[in-house]
Amino acid sequence: MNRGRLLRAAVSAVMAGPRPVVLSGPSGAGKSTLLKRLLKDYDGVFGFSVSHTTRGPRPGEINGKDYHFVSREDMQHGIDHGDFIENAVFSGNMYGTSKAAVQAVQAQNQICILDIDMQGVKNIKKTDLNPIYISIHPPSVQILEQRLRDRNTESEDSLQKRLQAAISDMEISKEPGLFDEIIINDNLEEAYAKLKSALTEEITAVQTSEDS
Ligand code: ADP
Ligand code: 5GP
Repeated sequence: MNRGRLLRAAVSAVMAGPRPVVLSGPSGAGKSTLLKRLLKDYDGVFGFSVSHTTRGPRPGEINGKDYHFVSREDMQHGIDHGDFIENAVFSGNMYGTSKAAVQAVQAQNQICILDIDMQGVKNIKKTDLNPIYISIHPPSVQILEQRLRDRNTESEDSLQKRLQAAISDMEISKEPGLFDEIIINDNLEEAYAKLKSALTEEITAVQTSEDS
């Protein structure tokens, strides 16, 4: 890292860097698909806040990249120790955003993306993180169910829990002011274009600071 970049990284660690982005919405709505594309297309602009979870890894998921896969004991210990900005139980498993996960991204002067559920959104609202809140919705619950079945990652029990949470979360997300933007992920290209457009200002700010 050159001197200018080092200094910017140090300053941003203190000033907390660019505004983070919260991506929420039902499981299976397409959050990971969209955010992986952002991370790939804007190398060095976005950084993913790697959450902790007690659920097991899916095929292809990498520990430390997709999640920190931990035991309930370790997760509870971290929560008791004050290591987490927020944590929640979703579909019977614990999930949480550690302070270290967000700081690691912000120290790089990158836009930190948090993929969190509705409980996480409500808890982040109580902090001074001040992110942009975006909710990704499926075109319908029927299509959501089909996508989750086609993804082939959930047991029937887990799938039903996710669908129940989806119905309730989509209702809650209509609450005025809760989200800055709700994007319906019907056609993937169109949803991705809307996501990029919602983040244009932040992307330009980071790209401009990289160039200077
Ligand atoms: P989430 O991260 O919100 O749980 P995923 O990104 O894993 O959701 O998407 C769920 C499934 O739906 C994946 O198999 C993904 O490939 C598929 N998918 C995502 N977006 C679309 C879309 N616009 N049209 C069709 N399938 C999609
Ligand atoms: P999945 O098991 O499908 O990866 O995630 C299930 C749900 O947990 C998704 O809605 C996802 O956004 C949410 N989630 C993932 N990480 C976190 C986290 O750190 N905190 C909270 N509150 N939710 C999370």
